[in-house]
Amino acid sequence: MLRGASLRVTRPRVAVLGAVHTHPHADTDAVLGAVREELTGVSHQAVYDVLRALTAAGLVRRIQPAGSVARYESRVGDNHHHVVCRSCGAIADVDCAVGHAPCLTASDDHGFVVHEAEVVYWGTCPDCSATSTDEESAKPGRTHR
Ligand SMILES: [Zn+2]
Ligand SMILES: [Zn+2]
Repeated sequence: MLRGASLRVTRPRVAVLGAVHTHPHADTDAVLGAVREELTGVSHQAVYDVLRALTAAGLVRRIQPAGSVARYESRVGDNHHHVVCRSCGAIADVDCAVGHAPCLTASDDHGFVVHEAEVVYWGTCPDCSATSTDEESAKPGRTHR
């Protein structure tokens, strides 16, 4: 993957790419922790720099839901979206809502050529739903559970 993006293959780059691949949506600290299991002594700055280079090269996608730190994933180029838990910050992938990118047609594109749409679905993850009370499901008109 690195060679395909014309990036020099270095151990930190391989380790960071591997960490992002095995821990999708990990933040910088989580990536650092995973990388250090392989490469002890790698600095925070080194990991940060590698993440920036990989993101710029398009090998890694950086997402940053409002109120969250930046997170990284190796699933790139498919215009998928994310569902984020308001309570604990858990993130999961959501495939394109309708067909191909951009899967949402702008009501007014203002003459822009639209390449992709980035949607964040905000909600409550199953774990947080299970620990909260049943008041949500008791609301009239809610039939989704
Ligand atoms: Zn949650
Ligand atoms: Zn994702």
